[in-house]
Amino acid sequence: MRRLFFSALLLTPLFSWAHNLPPIARVNLGFDYRLTWVAAMPLATVNTAQSYKDTFTEVFKKFPRVKTSSDDTYFLVSSDGMPDHPMMIGITNWQQQVPIPQAYTGSNSWKIPLKPVVAKSPAFIKGRFLRGAIAVAANGIPIFNPQNNRGEVSQDIGELDKWGGHCGRADDYHYHIIPLHLQSTVGKNLPVAFALDGYPVFGATEPDGSAMRKLDECGGHEDTKFGYHYHGLSKSPYTFIGFHGQVTELEGQVDPQPRANSFRPATSPLRGAAITDFAVEGEGKYKLSYTVNGDKRSVSYVLSTSSAKFEFNNGKEGTTTETYDRRDGSGGGGGKNNAGPRKK
Ligand SMILES: [Zn+2]
Ligand SMILES: [Zn+2]
Repeated sequence: MRRLFFSALLLTPLFSWAHNLPPIARVNLGFDYRLTWVAAMPLATVNTAQSYKDTFTEVFKKFPRVKTSSDDTYFLVSSDGMPDHPMMIGITNWQQQVPIPQAYTGSNSWKIPLKPVVAKSPAFIKGRFLRGAIAVAANGIPIFNPQNNRGEVSQDIGELDKWGGHCGRADDYHYHIIPLHLQSTVGKNLPVAFALDGYPVFGATEPDGSAMRKLDECGGHEDTKFGYHYHGLSKSPYTFIGFHGQVTELEGQVDPQPRANSFRPATSPLRGAAITDFAVEGEGKYKLSYTVNGDKRSVSYVLSTSSAKFEFNNGKEGTTTETYDRRDGSGGGGGKNNAGPRKK
């Protein structure tokens, strides 16, 4: 058991190392040879900034639609903001926003510091950083503060689906808890997310599978093998509670971070609505089903690069349609809505 654990731990940086070799060298590296090499590796190497980079690569590779790269400062994560798991189902406190793919790519990618730096004093997130993300999950989906932009705990007031997410004012899907369910894909020995200060966020157990040790004031702890890390929790406070590492705060959010793009005005809460289904019906074609006091309703929408067509089946109240020009979208995630949609 112990041997298995160490192998898993040390193979992570090693595989990345092997990937960097020219193809011929890689072919000649037998598995046994690698294990021997691993045994000779000092444990301390796991703690270097380079090892965090290897962990980043290893984690995001579990979700093939997420693309990664790095520059001198940041590890870059590109995604369309749409998770592979079902979503929206279970929401009983709905603002009528629906999932729309986002362009978190190029200069609008998620940026995780390659070398986290311990802050002089932690930046606690209660009542702060209520806009934008505080972390990015292994599947490329942003994780926001457990408190929504009005300071309420989203998970406790029916705002979140069964996977801990919902859509913001730019129809941008995001979590408000650490998505512990991603552990079934990444495995317990890898983090399910990275905080925007650069530190990894593990699930409800330590990376070696043992019970979670006592957490510090930020919701994390130092570890001789894995370095500083946070843990996600299945109950309040759900995420870490302060940034152990340095972050820059700009206009109420961690900077830098990508913008979600809105092309329609933000919608309002719909009292009594309960989301029952969300289906991808084809390329760019979606249907969200819900009930209002037993009346079955749905929103169907078709997206192209230039337009978005919505059909609102309002049950007893009939059907309406809206069409937006997506080229008008000028960005507006994280609570802002400054697009100039043309409504028909
Ligand atoms: Zn939200
Ligand atoms: Zn831990």
